[in-house]
Amino acid sequence: MLIDSHAHLDSERYAEDRKAMLRRAWDAGVGAVLAIGIGEEPAGMHRALDVCRQFNGQPGLPRLYASAGVYPHNAAEIDDAVLAALDSLLSEPEAIACGEIGLDYYHEGAPHPAQREGLVRQLEIAAARKRPILIHCRAKDGTTDAWDDLFDILEAHWRPTGLGGVMHCFGGGWEQARRALDLDFLVSFAGNLTYPKAQPLREVAARLPLDGVLVETDAPWLAPAPHRGQRNEPAWVLQTALVLAEALRVDREEIASATTKNFFRLFRLQPDVGN
Ligand SMILES: [Zn+2]
Repeated sequence: MLIDSHAHLDSERYAEDRKAMLRRAWDAGVGAVLAIGIGEEPAGMHRALDVCRQFNGQPGLPRLYASAGVYPHNAAEIDDAVLAALDSLLSEPEAIACGEIGLDYYHEGAPHPAQREGLVRQLEIAAARKRPILIHCRAKDGTTDAWDDLFDILEAHWRPTGLGGVMHCFGGGWEQARRALDLDFLVSFAGNLTYPKAQPLREVAARLPLDGVLVETDAPWLAPAPHRGQRNEPAWVLQTALVLAEALRVDREEIASATTKNFFRLFRLQPDVGN
């Protein structure tokens, strides 16, 4: 059994076959999925929770959890009303995480100061609601500015909470992975781990402890080899798990049980899969 720790189940790209897509995940051995609540914009943050409520309780589907947060590209849209909506979503029991939030200096969807301020304000809400965070961090090629700013913020505003979080779709180097583990974060790998050019990333993965990793799809994006370029879906998290298992020199049962245990430990949930 595997857990897909990050999938955008509310994406329009599943409008025609969302239930069948979830059934394929269950049939492929995916016991639970964390649905990411960023929508297309802050007004859509509730959609992951809606998907969760629509499908939980239906037999033959994975157990669904939700997150809510404002994506770095939308940081300039954060105001008191958006933060109040986030706070209210995170009070719901199925909304187990705040995210994905963070810094993106690669796409520059919002000015850097707005991204940093938006992150800090969301950390305050997540801390008050005792929800671990899901971090999106992407630096400009050849720089670590985004990571350096991220760790400055997390050291000041997040470490004291002891709540931890996930470095989603990890793409940093060993230094960033080491600092994430030191903050009690889990390092989550997506389909890009399987790509031919990702040897440096696989070498970072190989150095991580088994109790510090997760797997995810980031569906509908980043389909793993051999599905690269297609619409991704949670059923394909297995491909990434197999590559991670190889990097860590464990078998598929061990990677499945470790990543599942790590997920339930971080979110302080009773292990519970399926419906
Ligand atoms: Zn994502």
